[in-house]
Amino acid sequence: MQDSHSTEIQESRIQRDIERIAAFSECAPCVGHSRPTFSPAWEKAVAYIIQEAALVGAVAAFDPFGNVHIRRPGRAGSVWLSGSHLDSVPTGGRFDGVAGVVAPLEVLRCQPQAPLEVIVFAEEEGTTFQRGMLGSQGWTGGLLASDLEQYKNSNGANYLSAGRPFGVDPTRMDSEKLVPSNYCGFVELHIEQGNFLWKRGMAVGLVDRIHGRRQYHVRIEGTANHAGSTRMEDRRDALVGAAGMIEGLEQLAKKLCNQAEHTVITVGRLKVFPNALNVIPGTVEFTLDFRSPSDTTLSAGEEQIKELIEHHCDRRQLAYHWHQTEVIPPLNMDPELCHQASEAAHRLGIPLPRVSSGALHDAAILAPFLPTTMLFVASRDGISHHPEEYSQISDLVQATRILAEMIRR
Ligand SMILES: [Zn+2]
Repeated sequence: MQDSHSTEIQESRIQRDIERIAAFSECAPCVGHSRPTFSPAWEKAVAYIIQEAALVGAVAAFDPFGNVHIRRPGRAGSVWLSGSHLDSVPTGGRFDGVAGVVAPLEVLRCQPQAPLEVIVFAEEEGTTFQRGMLGSQGWTGGLLASDLEQYKNSNGANYLSAGRPFGVDPTRMDSEKLVPSNYCGFVELHIEQGNFLWKRGMAVGLVDRIHGRRQYHVRIEGTANHAGSTRMEDRRDALVGAAGMIEGLEQLAKKLCNQAEHTVITVGRLKVFPNALNVIPGTVEFTLDFRSPSDTTLSAGEEQIKELIEHHCDRRQLAYHWHQTEVIPPLNMDPELCHQASEAAHRLGIPLPRVSSGALHDAAILAPFLPTTMLFVASRDGISHHPEEYSQISDLVQATRILAEMIRR
């Protein structure tokens, strides 16, 4: 029998936390889990974590950016920071973000005196307010109140007004940003969302690098005209032009993989104007998401992407407009913190291979300010952002034990 002061990470408690949070969903009982940031389902999930932490004497506070900070009161000196997010993509899975919140919560239960602050970042996914990692970017000073005001949810409410009941307060933003000296470092535990660990039958991995991301908005201008009377040789069809570009971008990404493995390019959203059955498409807009572990490849690739678009426009006498919407460079995780994680895993006898993260996380936003690393938990078949997303609780326990051991030291 385990007593209430057990310092052992308990699988049953973690299992229960995952199940309880999964039940807080906008679309329950339909398939998958939907917790838009600042929605009633998100609020209930946050309240559950706060209540559980209160059982071991920890108290919670919202910062003016909508993030939740949970710790034991009255502790002097710097503390560890660990956490992730509870917002989800529409019809997402049970583990993305949630795993990284319940793990440090379990550490707090086992080591109530641990120098640890649990954080729940707001709007990590970017599917509620159309841009990801808003809470962490606000807290670290990368986004101002005037920026946050631009992002709106599907009800038309902007981040500042929708977040007001959860502490979002522009008047406090300048004075309550992250103070790095308050923290020893940041460890984010997250499911891998790839198949590297699962394929090898390994429970946990240590992230030593997060890939960079550049995003663009591209508009291709041709001429809309009658689909019946305009001969093929007389057309300036923006969609046919865009189609050639999209296929070319796929080839380019494969070529760039020779320079830097795991380089990827995605055209995920396409708008066609006038989008009518019998009209030649006059304008096409698309988004372009370009990621690589190498900044050199991102810079060189950006030039090649522009050349490719220009080439297709020249061929068809189309015009184009190009707008960069985001630049996040690849980031190395802190070598000393990675070393500490490896040592902790070694003491526990848990194999801890090094992996890189193709997905972005709040850890990428924190890394320039705090020594940061991430622990990945194996994802079954690499499936994520999907109702079938699954990680074994026993693997999550292994990762939580490493986190606890790092903090204990
Ligand atoms: Zn996530």
